[in-house]
Amino acid sequence: MTALTVLGAALLGALTWTFMEYCIHRWLGHRWKRNVFGKEHTRHHSEGDYFAATPKKLGAASLFLAVTAPPAIWVAGALAGGAWAVGLVGFYGYYEWLHRRAHTHGPRNAYGRWVRRHHFHHHFGDPRMNHGVTSPLWDAVFGTLQEPGQIRVPRKLCMVWLKGPDGEIPPAFQADYALRGR
Ligand SMILES: [Zn+2]
Ligand SMILES: [Zn+2]
Repeated sequence: MTALTVLGAALLGALTWTFMEYCIHRWLGHRWKRNVFGKEHTRHHSEGDYFAATPKKLGAASLFLAVTAPPAIWVAGALAGGAWAVGLVGFYGYYEWLHRRAHTHGPRNAYGRWVRRHHFHHHFGDPRMNHGVTSPLWDAVFGTLQEPGQIRVPRKLCMVWLKGPDGEIPPAFQADYALRGR
């Protein structure tokens, strides 16, 4: 029972993170941009391979833990509340890794392909769509889920993994992506 409680609470924490991931990206990244995250995010969009420095992300993780753990422990007790907060912050860490990996490395499975197409449609197709990175859940809930067609990537922002030795897109990715501009 205890193990089940801990597991359930941690999963709920991960789910809570996916909601925060959506809200932070959509509203702090794209709507009210004059905040620390908004500034970093604008730069991420314009430079493509720019990511906020690791200490800032560790700062964000500490902040998430500091604001979520005490009330959760107060409401649900040390075990369930603590597991929920750890699940939330742990999944935040997974999101950071997954997002960076999507930009730096090619897909290795169907989920990896989906993550990249979903996210690069947000970057290069329509930035008002596909705010979730780890899942389509909240985009579906809020009506911002869009199925990308062939994604047209600006040549100067093209991800390294999408470029063959000749600077063009390898045949394996041509159905999913095309280059535009010079
Ligand atoms: Zn990105
Ligand atoms: Zn964005």
